[in-house]
Amino acid sequence: MKAMILFGPPGSGKGTQAARLVERYGWCHLATGDLLREALAGRDPPALEAQDLMKAGRLVADELVGQMVRKKLDQLRSEGRGGVILDGYPRNEAQVGHLDTILNERSIGLLGVLALEVEDELLVKRLAGRRSCPTCGRGYNLYFDPPRTSGRCDHDGADLICRPDDNEQTIRERLRVYREQTRPVMEVYARRSQLTTVAGGGSPKEVWRRIVGIVDQWTDQRG
Ligand code: ADP
Repeated sequence: MKAMILFGPPGSGKGTQAARLVERYGWCHLATGDLLREALAGRDPPALEAQDLMKAGRLVADELVGQMVRKKLDQLRSEGRGGVILDGYPRNEAQVGHLDTILNERSIGLLGVLALEVEDELLVKRLAGRRSCPTCGRGYNLYFDPPRTSGRCDHDGADLICRPDDNEQTIRERLRVYREQTRPVMEVYARRSQLTTVAGGGSPKEVWRRIVGIVDQWTDQRG
């Protein structure tokens, strides 16, 4: 199995681009934020303990996410999946070391790290405007892609929901944590010549055009 890291601040479009990568390569999308939210929904005790940190926009314990990543990777390997897209991990320098070990132990090669760069004001709008349908999962944005009827899904009319950490105060905190703890991770991979940065502004399609050639090249050369 091989891995790539999709890197970038909250709201940079990692989830959207990951979905397209999944479709193109048949890889699996492993987002630590999603794993934590699933664990919370299942009332998993360690995740419940981390809930307040998530609500505040802070990072949860490295051990907790490390354990979730290990477990998920083992599951994917046993299913014979060819590749995995890591999203939201590693998020600080300690997690880089943990990931090195996790990948080495499993002989999983790292194809590369793709970082999406987006300016803060656009990130705030993308996150504060983000809504989703709890029934069909469709995503909207109040500024860029609003539903036809305010607050309701175009597809099934369900009331749209907002993630608890997508409020302005928590968004600012997430961006601060990103700058202070997560951004330094980029320099580590840059020093290892494994980092490629791409402009993350514009529509999902525009961003996709910028990244697909890069990932194609990785799979040709290193896959
Ligand atoms: P974002 O849109 O802020 O990138 P995510 O869905 O990736 O949101 O993560 C939501 C929250 O889950 C984070 O604010 C943090 O509390 C927690 N989290 C996710 N990944 C990690 C990680 N690798 N290390 C620590 N905390 C994490």
